[in-house]
This record gives sequence, C-alpha cells and structure tokens, in this order.
Amino acid sequence: MRIGFFGGTFNPPHNGHINLAREWSDRLSLDRILMTPTGTPPHKESSDVPGEARFEMCRIAAEESDGLLEAYDFEVRRSGQKSYSVITLSALHEEYPGSEIFMIMGADMFMSLESWYDFDRLKTLAVFCTMPRGGITFSQLEEHRLHLKERGCPGLVSDLPEMVISSTEVRRRVSGGESIHGLVPEGVEKYIYAHGIYSKQN
Ligand code: ATP
Repeated sequence: MRIGFFGGTFNPPHNGHINLAREWSDRLSLDRILMTPTGTPPHKESSDVPGEARFEMCRIAAEESDGLLEAYDFEVRRSGQKSYSVITLSALHEEYPGSEIFMIMGADMFMSLESWYDFDRLKTLAVFCTMPRGGITFSQLEEHRLHLKERGCPGLVSDLPEMVISSTEVRRRVSGGESIHGLVPEGVEKYIYAHGIYSKQN
C-alpha cells in the first residue's frame, strides 16, 4: 500500500492543504492520505484550539474531499506527549507492514528537516514530498533535495504553483470579521462559526 502521511497543526485545515494533498495523491497514486493534526506540536507553540477540535475540522475536511483524505487521530490521542514524526511514522509502519510512506509537507518544513528529532532514523521511514511556498522556490527545493539525498534522505519536489493561503490568514480574517469563503472547505467554515473559534484571537 502507498500511504501519504500529512501532518500539521491544521488550525484550521484550509484549501492550500487540500491542494498540496491532491497534487501528491495524483502524482504518486496514493491509496490513502492520513491527515494528522498534532497534539503538542514540536515546531510551534501549542495552539489555543484543542487537538480534538482541530481533529474534528480535519474529519470534516476529509468528508468533503471525495475520498482524498482520511483524518488520523494518532497524535491527538497522544496529546500531552511530544508528537515527533519518527514516533508516528514508526507506528504507521507497524500498522501497515510493507507499505511505502510518503510524508507530505510544505516548503518551510522540508527546508528544516535535518533539524527534526532523530533525523537519522526519520530519513529511513518515508519519502519526503514538498512544493514551493512562502518565497521558497522550486529550484531552492530541488537544490535542498539533492543535499538531503547525499545524506541518505529521499525527497520529491513538485513545481505546482503555490496557493497563497495560511491558517494564520484564516484566523486573522475570522477575528477581523472578514469572509473566509473559498479559503477553507465549506464544512470547516460552518464549524468555525458554529463554535465561535478564532473570533477573539489576534
Ligand atoms: P500557520 O499559518 O498557523 O503557520 P499553516 O497554514 O502553515 O499554519 P500547517 O497546519 O502548519 O498550516 O501546515 C501543515 C503543512 O502544510 C506544513 O508542512 C505547511 O508548510 C503546509 N502548507 C500549509 N499551507 C500550505 C499552502 N498554502 N501550500 C502548500 N503547503 C502548505
């Protein structure tokens, strides 16, 4: 089985995430993509919105994704413990023996891979798949991919144009009373307003 592992804070999940996942699903003919919100994120301050709510928004996004995504609660279930990718990917290999795992990530994450917890083991657990974002270009990513390859870390870079959306922008808009229509899946938009999340942030 070919599995896409897509981790993130997903606070909230947005259409940039869906775009990235769809690209890799199409390119790699993935059987499933597990959208996995962090419990306590190692690369960010822990967010105000609890893991359960971020998981629920991922579940809704997955429901609307025509079978592209599945929400996976491994890291949310372990909330309170650091959710390192090596731990989650090792668990996935145990759950799906013999599978190939493709870890889907934005350009910022790809550029920082070597500083991740237990990089030497991490690089044996997945192929790391990325695309340009936030000023990090395809050629920069390609150069970094070759550097990682020399260190024994397999990567793939797509030249898909960036969809300029971030969770930060979605939260900013909600708190400022601006529309987020078209930036997030419709069910996620409804969930945000129904639960009044982000309305008092920033
Ligand atoms: P925030 O604005 O809160 O920092 P974010 O929009 O970057 O959040 P995350 O949940 O941190 O969202 O993202 C999960 C993964 O998806 C990261 O690897 C990130 O780089 C990537 N990603 C997020 N938005 C996009 C986008 N528009 N295009 C491509 N990759 C993206």
